[in-house]
Amino acid sequence: MYTVRRFVVRHSRFFEWVYECFEPMLVFLDPVWSRFGYNRMERPVAFAERHIKGLLFDCQMCGQCVLSSTGMSCPMNCPKNLRNGPCGGVRENGHCEVKPAMKCVWVDAWEGASRMKGGDKISIVQPPVDRSLEGSSSWLRVARERAEEKRATRDAAREAMAEAFSEAREEEPAAAPLATEPPNAQPMQEAEESTSVLTVEKTPS
Ligand code: SF4
Repeated sequence: MYTVRRFVVRHSRFFEWVYECFEPMLVFLDPVWSRFGYNRMERPVAFAERHIKGLLFDCQMCGQCVLSSTGMSCPMNCPKNLRNGPCGGVRENGHCEVKPAMKCVWVDAWEGASRMKGGDKISIVQPPVDRSLEGSSSWLRVARERAEEKRATRDAAREAMAEAFSEAREEEPAAAPLATEPPNAQPMQEAEESTSVLTVEKTPS
């Protein structure tokens, strides 16, 4: 709806904040999406996304959402589907040359981006639209990609830790035990750790 999408652009900072809260939730739900299967979740999530974003942004479900980089103005509403700025046909009043009643989505994008915290993302060059992703859910794609990135970072940290651990063991075996202590060794160790007074044996003078 044209009026709603113009309203969103005028309040782009607020919608940016909403998305900043929403994206971590999507990633947090990765175990749920994985449990049911991302492919199985595709239809219901895409259905919800189509209706919510359709109402707010006139979303065309390109499957590769760039709203955060385009001032919350969907570039797929440009009759030429331009993803990297306006064509040379913007009218003097800022309207589209193909649809004179509509303001150019890139004029809106520029205004929306100027209100956003991450507004400078508008200068990022977007890749061409991959038409094979049309109709698919951007939300699920973001959830899967971010969750994979997090897993990769965590695995790399674990590998680094395992490496450091084996190096530490070579340097000082007692400081880096390979296995957990046997149960009968633990109470003794705890007792030793809890003792804070040093006893000094007196030597006979
Ligand atoms: S960029 Fe794509 S996914 Fe995002 S609102 Fe526009 S059509 Fe929808």
